[in-house]
Amino acid sequence: MANSKRKCALKTCGLRFRPEDGIVRGLQAWCGQEHQIEWAMAAGKKLRERTVKQARVQEVKQFKAGDRPLQLKLTQTEFNRMIRLLDAKRGCISCDKPPSWKGQWHAGHFKTTAAAPALRFDARNCFKQCSQCNNFTSGNLLPYKQRLIDTYGIGLVDWLEGPHEMVKLSAQDLAAMRKQFSEECRRLEAGSPPSRDWRHL
Ligand SMILES: [Zn+2]
Ligand SMILES: [Zn+2]
Repeated sequence: MANSKRKCALKTCGLRFRPEDGIVRGLQAWCGQEHQIEWAMAAGKKLRERTVKQARVQEVKQFKAGDRPLQLKLTQTEFNRMIRLLDAKRGCISCDKPPSWKGQWHAGHFKTTAAAPALRFDARNCFKQCSQCNNFTSGNLLPYKQRLIDTYGIGLVDWLEGPHEMVKLSAQDLAAMRKQFSEECRRLEAGSPPSRDWRHL
């Protein structure tokens, strides 16, 4: 290999030279000391830039993880998605729209999140609902209630309307719940049955 030429590691140079004419350190080689120094300075700068960037990404991640309103929003989105998947084969909980309806489907709470915050992420209190019932008739609650009684029994409605102990969920609690909902979504999207009976009283 004594005769094979080496290439200067400094990108802006790239000169090919015989090893004895330059500096060789293992896999790296430079045409001269000047370019070795220039290369080392550029490499150091790159490394520093990367380190600073990584630290910033980590900082944003930690900030977001502790941002409770953000976590609440993200977890709500994922929960709603899970509800629509759980009820994929069902029509609207409040009206006669069949699952084949082409409009937008929402996840509608029976007890609103304001009235029963403890039931915000409880699948027994949330069912697939057409956007019309959800947006324009405040959930169309009378037929909603009747459908719940017909399908799940009066026991569910009595329980939903009863008192519920409020548990204050931290940002970390919310993130952990979201993980569960995401896992269930993936499962349902793959065509598997639910991992558990989310509507079991
Ligand atoms: Zn060079
Ligand atoms: Zn509807």
